[in-house]
Amino acid sequence: MKKEVAFTCELPNGIHARPANHLEAVCRQFSSDIKLKNLRNENTGSAKSVLSLVGTDTLLNDPCSLIIEGDDAEAAFDVLATYLREEFPLCDEEIVVMDEGDVTLPQSLMNHNPTLIRAKRLSAGIAKGKLIRYNDIELSVFEQEIASLTFEQAKQQVTETLIDKAELASGQEKEIIKAHLGILNDETLNEKVSGFVSNGESLAKAILLTVAAITETLMQSSSAYLKERVLDIKDIALQLLMTAHPHVEVTTDFTLTEPSIVIANDLTPSQFLGLDRAFLQGLILTQAGSTSHTVILARAFNIPAVSGVEIDACAKHEGETLFVDGGLGIVALAPSDAVATYFERAMWLAEQVKAAESEYLNLQAQTKDGHKIEIAANIACTVEAESAFAKGAEGIGLFRTEMLFMDRSTAPDEQEQFDAYKEVLEAAGDKAVIIRSMDIGGDKPLDYLNLPHEHNPFLGYRAVRIYPQFLALFHTQLRAILRAAQYGHTKVMIPMIQSIEEIRWVKAQLEIVKAELTNDNTPFGAIELGIMVEIPSVAFIMDQFCKEVDFFSIGSNDMTQYLLAVDRDNDNVAKLYNSLAPSFLRLLRAVVSGAQAHDKWVGLCGELGANKKVLPLLVGAGLNELSMAAPSIAPTKAALRQFDSEACKALFNEACDCATIADVEALLEAFAQSQEDKPLLDVECVLLDCDFNSKEEAIQTLVGNLGVRGRTHVVNELEADIWARESVFTTGLGNGFAIPHTKSDNIAHSSISIARLNKPVIWSDDEDGAVEFVIMLTLNKNQGDQHMRIFSGLARKLIHESFRNTLKTMTTEAEIISYLQSELSL
Ligand code: PEP
Ligand code: MG
Repeated sequence: MKKEVAFTCELPNGIHARPANHLEAVCRQFSSDIKLKNLRNENTGSAKSVLSLVGTDTLLNDPCSLIIEGDDAEAAFDVLATYLREEFPLCDEEIVVMDEGDVTLPQSLMNHNPTLIRAKRLSAGIAKGKLIRYNDIELSVFEQEIASLTFEQAKQQVTETLIDKAELASGQEKEIIKAHLGILNDETLNEKVSGFVSNGESLAKAILLTVAAITETLMQSSSAYLKERVLDIKDIALQLLMTAHPHVEVTTDFTLTEPSIVIANDLTPSQFLGLDRAFLQGLILTQAGSTSHTVILARAFNIPAVSGVEIDACAKHEGETLFVDGGLGIVALAPSDAVATYFERAMWLAEQVKAAESEYLNLQAQTKDGHKIEIAANIACTVEAESAFAKGAEGIGLFRTEMLFMDRSTAPDEQEQFDAYKEVLEAAGDKAVIIRSMDIGGDKPLDYLNLPHEHNPFLGYRAVRIYPQFLALFHTQLRAILRAAQYGHTKVMIPMIQSIEEIRWVKAQLEIVKAELTNDNTPFGAIELGIMVEIPSVAFIMDQFCKEVDFFSIGSNDMTQYLLAVDRDNDNVAKLYNSLAPSFLRLLRAVVSGAQAHDKWVGLCGELGANKKVLPLLVGAGLNELSMAAPSIAPTKAALRQFDSEACKALFNEACDCATIADVEALLEAFAQSQEDKPLLDVECVLLDCDFNSKEEAIQTLVGNLGVRGRTHVVNELEADIWARESVFTTGLGNGFAIPHTKSDNIAHSSISIARLNKPVIWSDDEDGAVEFVIMLTLNKNQGDQHMRIFSGLARKLIHESFRNTLKTMTTEAEIISYLQSELSL
């Protein structure tokens, strides 16, 4: 029997190793022969081989056909047609790539005439280290060697090593090792090597011929992404060759003994992972592109990296100290003292930014009057947990467990789920984790459940509604959660609850599962039970629900669509989907007050929680927690500290009384404007005892400090504005004082910065060009004429020796600030 599924490739990076791995796993379940034909280039490859799939050079929007021939073609057709339509387009992860294009280099560096090589920016950050060359390993050194292991034995050993490494790894590193395991077990690779061996070639020759053949196919690809997979093939080949020929000496153990910047033509992911990260400071690569696995790893480990640099261009600098700036895309060779000082200061400023952020991340989320509101993270898979806590999460407010069930052909078993929940709970330490039971069905179908197709899935057979039919699946999930609950503060949340009958049924199931665990002598932990409030009817019987559950979390995404009868995914009605509708705010008020009347905890985990504009309303509503995607956590904590909780409460009540969405928006706008900015003069912008060697260093540091303080988000651009003014006329005003200044869009909070220098620096070529006191004005454009007013006011004051001497001799930052405030009447 022969069947064919036509589809269009919707993957942004085409079919590369990771999506190919997914497709291959689904195809492998069937005995039929399955081929993928790319109708654009007529390439055909086995769908049961990752490398063959990759070799079809299938790119975004290519028309394709999956040709299935064999006894189970009918069954395969049913599964694959749905899979290709619904799951395959979603199985690739977006790769974050630095935007291409040159950046303008800062004048505080360029004024020192550095010797630079411009390079492609791959991983941001500045590195300083000795230049060490990583010599290419020529696979051909194995060509004449006799293997002491068979292919199968070598493969077995490499597989075991990779599995061990994968167990110790996490995040991107783990994903990449898994992709390498896929390549190692690939049908095409295995058939090719075995084929060459049975034709009489030595194992080494067979591997080399296979690498050459696969490389040729990949290099013909029009996709840079697929070309970059050649390094992965070489990586696996090298590991196989070294394992099969232990007597051949190849120095892949490249020992770094001091802070180093490694330069290499090709650096495979395994070679990168083999470098001692205590000493590896930066990478300069000849050929790598942004999506090569080595570069993805460099970004994951915060190692600055650039590419497009010929090794010969740096050859004579081996062993010398140099700098790499991955954000600017430069390598600075033979740095002079001034150039070295620039980079060292830039590194110091970057550390200050990091320190300011980390100080902030660990601060408890609260308003400026001390009202606490927990800021938690929404996650969909285990690896997200650790990074969510690193980004300041105070708990996990929503773990969408359905993701564990999707993208596969059978449900995860109890052990797999237990491992996943335990991993998240352990990452959380003593913070709470809200595990939502599977929200499957309706718009999130699973092939293996064979749920009926529905006309109105959002109002249909989903979430808690399907649990009675799939009781074993639900019980398995509850068992896994209860067992994992021994490892942390566990809260279980049931989605789509609308009646008391439903939650009572869930509680009965929990009792059954606990009894089973007790009978089996299987230890388990305590949990709190809660529901998602996403169906508006719940709001009317909050008093009844409070008798049944421990907590609530509002699913604003669904609650908005159900309240307003607007499909959340339908573009035609998107304009009507708005959680600022006064009706929605009143519903929110009913839920929160209903919960609070019985001392129950109530959070919110829909997208609304991360909306900065709406934040004062959510604070005013009296929620205990907001849960959101991890990157929004720190900015939300920052914004929260600007609000007064009583003002937010008044705002919320006023908004509930509004007639229209526009009225609510106008209220929010007025509220935002009434919030005070950072003060113009503040001790955080005063630097005393500065050891600057040049005007460049002074400007770099003062502008950089504004970045550290969150007063500008575009340091480079602001610095360029200051220099632009400086190039028209010098801002040195004589008597050792300078007032560099700009009125710019690049400053978020208008600021007056001060630097008092320990020794004078040359500001301009004139006689009176030495400066030891810098007052920098950076004012934003909506400050009217304040810029010139402050500048001329200062210039007038500086004529007086007493004013100058007071500034030069005051002992603290605070004294200087209050003196300037009164003298300038600010
Ligand atoms: C919600 O509905 O607001 C919610 C958080 O759940 P989901 O988006 O997963 O339906
Ligand atoms: Mg929902």
